[in-house]
Amino acid sequence: MSLRDVVIYTSEILRKPNAEVTVFDDELKNLTDDMLETMYKHEGIGLAGPQIAVNKKIVVIDIPDENGEQGKNPLVIINPKITKLEGEIVDSQEGCLSVPGYQDTVQRYERCTVEYQNLKGEHCVFDNVDGLFAICLQHEIDHLEGKVFVDKLSRLKRERLHKKYEKYLKELN
Ligand SMILES: [Zn+2]
Repeated sequence: MSLRDVVIYTSEILRKPNAEVTVFDDELKNLTDDMLETMYKHEGIGLAGPQIAVNKKIVVIDIPDENGEQGKNPLVIINPKITKLEGEIVDSQEGCLSVPGYQDTVQRYERCTVEYQNLKGEHCVFDNVDGLFAICLQHEIDHLEGKVFVDKLSRLKRERLHKKYEKYLKELN
């Protein structure tokens, strides 16, 4: 396993189209192992392919248990598709490994149904899930559509963040 660099907003890599995965082999397994390692290292609960500059429809998620611990239930979610959004619109306090040091409240659906494939290529479904998991799924699947959670904020906030992170990116390079 190896750590990957996290792509930082406002990089265009986060806006590129992401390809469907068609080959389910060891290389894919190694890639998702790297994604999980990178996510844990940065104390995230989810990470999408474009966030490590792999523009493919791959997501990893690990929702902490009641003791705040991760690692017991790492999920690898390939080619996910939201097939249903249900329930109330809820406020969700979110952050993103690609927008380090920033959190804000955005709106999400309370529940969702997601069809996806596992590492073997088998078709699976998260049926009408809720809570943090449902919100995390929506956040990560947005990444696969070239969206970042800050896109949901007001224009004023977006402009301010854009400037701030453009500057931050320049300083990194
Ligand atoms: Zn994110």
